[in-house]
Amino acid sequence: MSEFIKKIGVIGAGQMGNGIAHVCALSGFDVHLVDVAPENLEKGMAAIDRNMDRQVKREEITQSDADSAKARISTGSDYAGFGSCQLVVEAATENEAVKKQILVDLCPHLSEEALIASNTSSISITRLGSYTDRPGKFVGMHFMNPVPRMELVELIRGIATDEDTFATFRDLTLRLGKTPVSAEDFPAFIVNRILLPMVNEAIYTLYEGVGSVDSIDTAMKLGTHHPMGPLELADFIGLDICLAVMQVLHEGLADTKYRPCPLLTKYVEAGWLGRKSGRGFYDYTGDEPVPTR
Ligand code: NAD
Repeated sequence: MSEFIKKIGVIGAGQMGNGIAHVCALSGFDVHLVDVAPENLEKGMAAIDRNMDRQVKREEITQSDADSAKARISTGSDYAGFGSCQLVVEAATENEAVKKQILVDLCPHLSEEALIASNTSSISITRLGSYTDRPGKFVGMHFMNPVPRMELVELIRGIATDEDTFATFRDLTLRLGKTPVSAEDFPAFIVNRILLPMVNEAIYTLYEGVGSVDSIDTAMKLGTHHPMGPLELADFIGLDICLAVMQVLHEGLADTKYRPCPLLTKYVEAGWLGRKSGRGFYDYTGDEPVPTR
């Protein structure tokens, strides 16, 4: 069903884009990876090298699997290279104006039968599809972070998505060794609709003084067998992303139960974005993360 797909284009070489390129190349597809920022493309390729080497060390793949997968990835800085791709996954910055411009610029370079997916965490798939010349061939393909390790892909149908297109993406997801789950096009889809309100509630629990960072994370790890506490998880996801998803839920569903916690907003305003900025609910500047409250 997805046999015609031989070469996959990926737009954006950030943490998600390089992970998607990694998984597609290891599954035998040719990959063309593009980023507007040459330094991010370089960092993305270095991350693929590092992550494949780690998989070789753990004996999850062989050196020859890694070498041939790396050789299947080409890179570029414009859309010309996507003409030979049967499918393109957009994994650029989570900003609707950026994604709209990408889709408008990309379409004239594609073959008529090429399919397009967006890895957006929260933006309407129906709206993104409407920016293309082929809404029927457009879906949401929401990989989880880190892509090589996480088993799930949420597949989101826009109102205009063709059944054939959706079936092709289900088949492709299985060929990538992942499990597809179908979601309708509602704000934040399934995983983030459920996960982020829990994270937000943990931040309210801290804000109201019900518990400290350590007691909240310990309670959820030992009390519910979550592998990470919710505040540790918030720092891992990035507090800016957590806030953006809560805002999409709050605005999109117009229900006060999704109100972002004011403490989350303050942390983001302070530039305390979690692991990536060195400080969030934990301080990451030393050897071990230290709770900040
Ligand atoms: P990131 O900031 O790590 O990477 C985004 C990349 O896109 C950057 O390298 C940037 O230079 C590039 N970019 C920006 N504009 C571009 C353009 N016009 N053309 C080509 N490249 C461009 O972000 P990320 O975490 O990889 O997120 C990417 C997408 O995946 C977002 O839509 C995000 O919501 C989604 N997502 C993120 C996660 C997560 O946990 N981080 C999980 C699932 C989905």
